Amino acid sequence: MKFELLQLEEDRIRYLLSGVTAAFANGIRRACMSEVPVLAIDEIGLYDNTSVLFDEQIGLRLGEVPLRAEDLDIFCQPEDCQCGGTGCPGCRVEFMLSSEGPGMVYSRDIQFTDPGVKPAFDKIPIVILGDGEKLVIEGYATKHVGTEHTKWQAGTLCGYKNQPCIVVADSCDGCGKCVEVCPRNLLSVEGGRAKTTNMLECSLCKLCVDACEPGAIKLSPIMDSFVVSIESSGTLPAKDLVAKAAEEIKKRAEDLDAKLAELA
Ligand code: SF4
Ligand code: SF4
Ligand SMILES: [Zn+2]
Repeated sequence: MKFELLQLEEDRIRYLLSGVTAAFANGIRRACMSEVPVLAIDEIGLYDNTSVLFDEQIGLRLGEVPLRAEDLDIFCQPEDCQCGGTGCPGCRVEFMLSSEGPGMVYSRDIQFTDPGVKPAFDKIPIVILGDGEKLVIEGYATKHVGTEHTKWQAGTLCGYKNQPCIVVADSCDGCGKCVEVCPRNLLSVEGGRAKTTNMLECSLCKLCVDACEPGAIKLSPIMDSFVVSIESSGTLPAKDLVAKAAEEIKKRAEDLDAKLAELA
């Protein structure tokens, strides 16, 4: 297997993975979306809500706020906790939100008792409060995975495609029709012949192939090489998200191995 980093930002990572099957590339993608445990607000107690939104709508919005923890590993999932899932500081973190209008309630107004936990983004709007309207809530965030509910989905835009391979044959007459149709401007004509640049950006749409009358362009996916793009919801840095997804897959493989060994 070969790994090449193409782009790294706090919330986004893009890499080229070669010498693997589509199932392997897709396994990491799926684990990023549904198997990496993170915190999300899961339980609320409303003491006052005179806003225009129903209690349920407020609860839904709070649940969808991505939360970032300085050390996520200090929390366990309720079903694995020594409290048996009834709730304790080991498996949940308490928060308070208290606001009075006029003004917008933002995610930054959610205050956790653990200073290491906070919303990943400050300015996610929750609700506009009119003059004298109040919102007073207490509740808990717990740690779970995306398969439980989308609010625990750590990866959002996660996708992959085969690495494209394009070859221009000698029959190219430099007419430039492929250049005109490429929506990503990856083609040019130099020295009377089509040339490609930055082919990792190619979407394999084949518009260039259809436009080429002499049939000089041959485009094909490289079957064991993938451009993978992973975007985090903000709960984890993108590179940590991919590393944790790989850890989850490894754990499952080890579990399977142990179970098979029991059968032997
Ligand atoms: S359309 Fe075909 S012949 Fe024309 S420049 Fe492109 S590759 Fe060459
Ligand atoms: S397949 Fe589509 S994106 Fe790729 S080079 Fe051809 S026209 Fe451009
Ligand atoms: Zn507990």
